[in-house]
Amino acid sequence: MEEIDLYEVLGVEKGASQAEIRKAYHKLARTHHPDKAAAEDREEADTKFKAILQAYETLYDVEKRALYDQYGMAAFDGSRPGGMGGGMNMEDLMTEMFGDMGFGGMPGMGGMPGMGPRDMKAKKGQDDEKDFPVTLEDLYLGKTQRFGATKNVICGHCKGKGAKDGAKPKKCSSCQGQGHKQVPRQVGPFLTPVVVACDTCNGTGEIYSDKEKCRKCKGNRTMSEKKPLELYVPRGSHGGERIVLPGEADQSPNQEPGDLVFVLEEQPHETFQRAGADLLADIHVSLAEALCGLSRVVLKHLDGRGIAIDHQKPKGGILRPGQLLRVEGEGMPIKKSEAHGNLFIRINVDFPEDDYLQDQTITTKLLELLPKPGPPVQAETVDEVEYETNASIDDFGGTDAHGEDAWEDEDDEGAGGGAQCAQQ
Ligand SMILES: [Zn+2]
Ligand SMILES: [Zn+2]
Repeated sequence: MEEIDLYEVLGVEKGASQAEIRKAYHKLARTHHPDKAAAEDREEADTKFKAILQAYETLYDVEKRALYDQYGMAAFDGSRPGGMGGGMNMEDLMTEMFGDMGFGGMPGMGGMPGMGPRDMKAKKGQDDEKDFPVTLEDLYLGKTQRFGATKNVICGHCKGKGAKDGAKPKKCSSCQGQGHKQVPRQVGPFLTPVVVACDTCNGTGEIYSDKEKCRKCKGNRTMSEKKPLELYVPRGSHGGERIVLPGEADQSPNQEPGDLVFVLEEQPHETFQRAGADLLADIHVSLAEALCGLSRVVLKHLDGRGIAIDHQKPKGGILRPGQLLRVEGEGMPIKKSEAHGNLFIRINVDFPEDDYLQDQTITTKLLELLPKPGPPVQAETVDEVEYETNASIDDFGGTDAHGEDAWEDEDDEGAGGGAQCAQQ
């Protein structure tokens, strides 16, 4: 199979600058645009145009160009997760493609200067990433979690050889002892040879007879083992943070094991919302407390402490719905310090039930006690109207189809239907 030279596609030198690459692309794109081709040539023009576009996209991107220069098109094996443009670094890419295999000539790879078998040994295996759910309490107090991780470890019996002492391996016939094979793969418009590890010999290039295989790992070279591990979540950690246990991912012979990585996933809390180091909690107070003063434990903090508020007259005024109280230093701990964020307490006033005012004596008393309404609205004529007592704001603007522009509720897709019903 022929390796496609992207520089040739664009007609530029290997050392071409980015400006030169862009210029060449614009020129080619103009002349080879499929719209300009005659109908019978369109398909060919389309393929050519796509090739030009891919060559440009690869070479104009500094990172992709570096990969291409080193590994050719094999660097962009699109079938792999996180392959092309997936932010993989060179080391990951190498390990992904070649694993721990020995290093022979790499067909189609244009050679790899300075990378002998010894260099390959130092390459790190894949990191193992997992989500780790944590409560806000865990993040407030910090948490140590012990667990058993099942992972592949190198067989202690054969030291990862996979065979008995003194056993002589045979060359793997599937890959001619190379440990890797070339397989064609569609990458964009190209059919490109991609190098993969040989699955017959697990990339070693060698095969042992069943009799010679290590009886403990059955020739697999690694074994599944449960290892006790400890995960420490420091107080003040955030969701999305990564906690790394270095070298605790699967082991593989001739390879430094990757890291076991836990990504913290903060679970929603029923009392608190968190923003950075600050906490927000809603509390409910009675109408009497709102008017006359509040003095009690209003909520339980993340460490179990009761938080008491003493809001008495004359110091504190009346508490109003939506009012925010700010308590300094009662938010989340800030990592690597003694400091804490702040706690915001939002007031909700619970009004009495409807039947509270059935007794006329209470109504009379309240009318005497509470402030009177403001000055009356002045009007020439007055209409006494009928009304609904529990209308919904979602219906606002729904009386006329044009009204939807005035009141748009993006979450409510059924608004249009409601409008039609209302018109009847
Ligand atoms: Zn073994
Ligand atoms: Zn093989």
